[in-house]
Amino acid sequence: MSYRHVKFPESGQKVSISNNKLVVPDNPILGFVEGDGIGPDITRAALRVWDAAVEKAYGGKRKVHWAELYLGEKAAGIYDGDYFPAETLEAIKELIVAIKGPLTTPVGGGFRSLNVSLRQELDLYACVRPVQYFDGVPSPMKRPQDVDVVIFRENTEDVYSGIEYQSGTPENRKLAKFLREEMGVNFFEDAGLGIKPISPFASKRLVRKAIQYAIDNGRESVTLVHKGNIMKFTEGAFRNWGYEVARDEFSERTITEDELWEKHDGVQPEGKVLIKDRIADITFQLMQLRPAEFDVLATMNLNGDYLSDALAAEVGGMGIAPGANMADHVAVFEATHGTAPKYANLDKVNPSSLMFSGCMMFDYIGWREVSALINESFTKTVAAGIVTYDFARQMEGATEVSTSGFADALIARL
Ligand code: NAP
Repeated sequence: MSYRHVKFPESGQKVSISNNKLVVPDNPILGFVEGDGIGPDITRAALRVWDAAVEKAYGGKRKVHWAELYLGEKAAGIYDGDYFPAETLEAIKELIVAIKGPLTTPVGGGFRSLNVSLRQELDLYACVRPVQYFDGVPSPMKRPQDVDVVIFRENTEDVYSGIEYQSGTPENRKLAKFLREEMGVNFFEDAGLGIKPISPFASKRLVRKAIQYAIDNGRESVTLVHKGNIMKFTEGAFRNWGYEVARDEFSERTITEDELWEKHDGVQPEGKVLIKDRIADITFQLMQLRPAEFDVLATMNLNGDYLSDALAAEVGGMGIAPGANMADHVAVFEATHGTAPKYANLDKVNPSSLMFSGCMMFDYIGWREVSALINESFTKTVAAGIVTYDFARQMEGATEVSTSGFADALIARL
């Protein structure tokens, strides 16, 4: 494919897929989108840290060849006002792995969120958010070190499908009439109406990805989070389909809580992932009281949205929470916060959310030494009290540094 503005570095090779697995050369071309607002500041800092960590880990044998891709305001400047150029989508599909900064969603004018468009166009059906504590990071928890979970949130359906009918419209009245007269249900006059589709296809592919991740990464359990006691045929069905995937496709590697007690006296057999389920509201409570009981969480869209941000707050907030949106192979890693426009170009904010999303990306391509080095350096840097403003205001005696200063401190401690 020939591109108008995208250029792939000639010195690099593309990541490919063979036998359903990623094949990563030592000189992969990875895509990056710097994003809007604080995006350029954090991207500049993170790129320096990633490159330095790769160099440190492999002494020049491996190197990322970055290809800049464009979305948002920078794209609009280059592609005659187009915030979402088709060739960026094509390039991400071709490169398979990319990372992006935050993007502004212009308010009004029927403009669809660029992030939502990206997820839909590339069918990035799993939003993956690891939540892990680093020593020294300010936290409201008594034992934040017990928090170590990875959330797999379904990204394509649930009440986020946009099937909604506004109160007072002809469409709303038509649906209300059908529901009352043909389905025999009742609700208050002029209620706004929304549909919550939960399918076996979308539920199963999400839970499949969560279980596969747990197996590949030596995790102990996958918890299916749901509100199936109330919404039996949507949330309850998600739970049932989740157990079905475990039983039908991973029977050798998984065990349910019932089996654990009936056959193993509550002692988890080596090499098996425990599949359990918990009601959503109890999960929020337990994640504060006994977070050590959770490992991988598989959720539907809305529950996962709430849970991801609530858990991120337990270990330092949005400034450091990483994330990714994934299809079967194509994966777009991203900072989980927004563009924080009031801090744009001030070289002030915390680059860690994007930087740790990069660590997830290096784990994804199998370069685990890189993320291990960055994690270690981050812990040392924070322990030395060197932090950006967001942490400094919660820590006594900290030395506040800029975005680029924080990157310098991390690189010095690699
Ligand atoms: P936001 O940009 O995440 O900022 C909210 C607040 O979070 C900031 O004012 C700041 O808090 C803190 N914060 C965010 N990033 C930080 C960082 N790197 N380091 C330290 N603190 C950080 O949320 P918003 O103001 O609601 O949204 C602004 C724009 O971003 C909107 O256009 C929205 O649509 C977009 N957005 C994009 C994405 C995405 O691209 N994935 C996600 C969310 C929102 P203090 O003010 O307390 O310092």
